[in-house]
Amino acid sequence: MSEPAVPYAEALREFEPVIGLETHVELGTASKMFCGCDASFGAEPNTHTCPVCLGLPGALPVVNARAIESTVRIGLALHCDIASWCRFARKNYFYPDMPKNFQTSQYDEPLCTDGYLDVEVPVEGGTAETVRIPIERVHLEEDTGKSLHVGGATGRIHGASHSLVDYNRAGIPLVEIVTKPVAGTGARPAEVAKAYVTELRDVLRGLGVSDVRMEQGSLRCDVNVSLNPPGAPWGTRSETKNVNSLRSVERAVRSEVERQAARLRAGQRIVQETRHFHEDSGLSTSGRSKEEATDYRYFPEPDLVPVAPDPEWVAELRADLPEAPSVLRRRQIGSLGLSELDSAAMVNAGALDLVLATVAAGAPAAEARNWWLGPLAQAANAGGVEPADLPITPDQVARVVAIVAEGSLTPGLARQVVEGVLAGEGGPDQVIRARGLAVVSDEGVLAAAVDEALAASPDAADKVRSGKVAAVGALVGAVMKATRGQADATVVRRLLLERLGVSE
Ligand code: ADP
Ligand code: MG
Ligand code: ZN
Repeated sequence: MSEPAVPYAEALREFEPVIGLETHVELGTASKMFCGCDASFGAEPNTHTCPVCLGLPGALPVVNARAIESTVRIGLALHCDIASWCRFARKNYFYPDMPKNFQTSQYDEPLCTDGYLDVEVPVEGGTAETVRIPIERVHLEEDTGKSLHVGGATGRIHGASHSLVDYNRAGIPLVEIVTKPVAGTGARPAEVAKAYVTELRDVLRGLGVSDVRMEQGSLRCDVNVSLNPPGAPWGTRSETKNVNSLRSVERAVRSEVERQAARLRAGQRIVQETRHFHEDSGLSTSGRSKEEATDYRYFPEPDLVPVAPDPEWVAELRADLPEAPSVLRRRQIGSLGLSELDSAAMVNAGALDLVLATVAAGAPAAEARNWWLGPLAQAANAGGVEPADLPITPDQVARVVAIVAEGSLTPGLARQVVEGVLAGEGGPDQVIRARGLAVVSDEGVLAAAVDEALAASPDAADKVRSGKVAAVGALVGAVMKATRGQADATVVRRLLLERLGVSE
């Protein structure tokens, strides 16, 4: 059931948005956060467990040094202050997927605080504007296990006959990155949110601390949104949980702006609550009303010693940070020789990596750009997916470009080949064979089509004869159409002019 909504642009003319993002990242460490269990994904259920991560009485945790290092590196990359001393805390609550009945987390003493990330956000006309997203904290905690509800139609607990729990994920190191409230995003809170998560993902990937796969849950996002009348104090926020793709981050903000605006307009209040995002509809439904921090009875973890990163070690980590993705991008774009405008368009479309990969596979930069910003961007839009998720690879695009350069495909035919690849008909060469797409330059075959075109348009033919050579374009078009785009346009043009006795 969908709630009333005010269209996004209209809502943002009437109200000012504030957004806040909480991002969870599963670290790619070899072992778990507080025990030596294997932290890899995909094993038989409950084979990666031990007394510590099962919370058995008397078991004692030990902090994973590599997880601390990764978290400090994330903090440094986000320009945070690194605590010289901090502790873990127990966050107490009962949930079947959490065997200890508390989560070892950080509360008032996070490892990293007060940073920022600059992100590029699309503006009208294809360029980008830099927006600074303030970071409140980066802290370290542990992931929970996974429940599986069996016997119902939906896989949810309602209607299930029984539930199973897999504790392999319990205790995997999880970093939470929380932004400060971001005000002033004007008409583009959803775009800013998406740009932030995209940039953050690239930073994390560059650091090599996680495989950052949103679809597998190693990067997940909670999206906070509130609206206020212009100049008024910030409104009450809702928190949409576990948004699992970049596109969904944007959609979750958008639908929440639309929903809250309708409520506010009708004089209703916004309930502070968590909401569940539904991929299929792009809408969210109400979850639980928000618990207070006091409900968790946080207290410092008595079984772990405090963490006190040595400033010299932190300085070494800082010196070893990789180049920021934004700097790397600028360098890569420079090497492609494309314009500022192009680079902004590629970044906004999520196509830069794809263009780079297509160039690496042998295509000229301009051709790679044209494909990914043109027909492929359109296809992605139409299918509601990111260009990277289209069923065509940069190698395949480069192959199509190469075949056109050899002269075996016209641009029109190349489009048909790409359509075939996108439709799952196989790689470019396979599609060309199966669809019988090849340039026809055999003059014998083309002559018949040329004669037909001349007979069908005597007016155009006369024009060309009388010296208006440009009119030959219509005749070339007619031949191309008759040959389903397979004629070599250069040969057709020459044949037409020869027949009409005109030389250029
Ligand atoms: P919780 O644990 O309740 O989710 P956190 O502090 O972890 O609280 O995260 C709250 C998030 O909501 C932060 O990103 C914060 O910046 C953001 N936030 C706080 N107030 C607002 C508001 N009025 N509108 C939108 N976002 C907000
Ligand atoms: Mg939270
Ligand atoms: Zn364990």
